[in-house]
Amino acid sequence: MAGTGDTRADWVHVDVMDNHFVPNLTLGLPVVQSLLKATDLPLDCHLMIEDPDHWAIGYAEAGAYNVTVHIEAAKDPVKLAKHLRAAGAKAGLSVKPGTPLEPYLDVLKHYDTLLVMSVEPGFGGQSFIADVLDKARTARRLVDTGHLKLVVEIDGGINAETIEQAAEAGVDCFVAGSAVYGADDPAKAVAALRERAARAAR
Ligand code: ZN
Repeated sequence: MAGTGDTRADWVHVDVMDNHFVPNLTLGLPVVQSLLKATDLPLDCHLMIEDPDHWAIGYAEAGAYNVTVHIEAAKDPVKLAKHLRAAGAKAGLSVKPGTPLEPYLDVLKHYDTLLVMSVEPGFGGQSFIADVLDKARTARRLVDTGHLKLVVEIDGGINAETIEQAAEAGVDCFVAGSAVYGADDPAKAVAALRERAARAAR
């Protein structure tokens, strides 16, 4: 894990949208394959797509570091996690803001990352829904007590202010889009976010 002051992100988060699971269309496997050739940073693929049971495996086989699917879309999430891991990727499970965590605690035992959505998936630039931090706190508690073994990740509306709330709630991986790509100096923005998160987590 990179230290504070590091201007490089740890992972590159890639939002894959299919215009069915969410009302937006972004990119798919061919672009991810090109990205894998263009960066040595691990790719964190967030699949906002229907039928991840069928499509997710291709991203793992292509070499994505972490492949996250939505619990609202997965038909057999336990089997899917096993397939992703067998293909050499970490398995990630994401929950939309309105989806509770409790029904999926057993499923989460099979996953390496939990991606808590802090906006409705589909578009960038939305504001942060603080209510979802309860799910991050629950996950953190379960990890700290040894019931789950996963990285708690948050996605949506993360900026200099919200990253502190998220870090205090126990999140340890933060997806920042507009706060980095919209900054005058994206590298400096990464370092500043990292610093704020580290300070708030102490
Ligand atoms: Zn995402």
